[in-house]
Amino acid sequence: MRKITIAIDGYSSTGKSTVAKQLADWLGYVYVDSGAMYRAVTLYALQNEFIYNNELYVENLVAALPEISLEFKKSETGKAEMYLNGVNVAKAIRTMEVSEWVSPIATIPEVRRKLVKLQHAMGEHKGVVMDGRDIGTVVFPNAELKIFMNASARERAGRRFKELQERGDKVTFEEVLENVTERDRIDTTREDSPLRKAKDAIEIDNSEMNLDDQFHTILQLAKDRIAGRV
Ligand code: C5P
Repeated sequence: MRKITIAIDGYSSTGKSTVAKQLADWLGYVYVDSGAMYRAVTLYALQNEFIYNNELYVENLVAALPEISLEFKKSETGKAEMYLNGVNVAKAIRTMEVSEWVSPIATIPEVRRKLVKLQHAMGEHKGVVMDGRDIGTVVFPNAELKIFMNASARERAGRRFKELQERGDKVTFEEVLENVTERDRIDTTREDSPLRKAKDAIEIDNSEMNLDDQFHTILQLAKDRIAGRV
């Protein structure tokens, strides 16, 4: 069967990764969480004090980019997880501190260039579902299926808040809401590869949709494209 490329973009915490994973599992495709890559670079910047005293030292980080090696590898759990210079950082990249710095880091063109190159290599043979902010516009502008996900900010913050609470993180709903809105602001207004809906993307607002409906709607769109019906 012919393989296609599926790009899933959208605002923060719209559930892109949940549906992208479901689709990849069902289709036997590779799933790539491009946000995890930006988060890993952010973690590296924090660990190496390129973020220090609330300040980001862009030039130093850019100079250190060749030292950063990123890989998705199967962990003991059987799931593909993010490894930064050989270390599993799947949990460490989900903290509020990383969430607070990731959007400023993602505005740096040199960081984007490095990550987009890796993303191209991962999707080179098609059969990939990649989620992010610029996948349908910049990374794979020729993707056969492009989805743009949306939901109200409160709904999205509520979902992320629940996730963080379940992990035992001490955050308030207001902090999470503010982070989600601030990331959207930076992501949509940055100069390099801003978050926007590709002209040929299909928008899905899942504020009122359950996971099953959402999955089946997108799966049908994918099947139509794989069969060449669209
Ligand atoms: O997907 P996630 O919310 O984990 O992404 C974290 C951040 O990484 C986003 O808010 C955005 O700043 C950045 N990002 C990006 N381009 C992508 C994926 C993520 O700029 N393709």
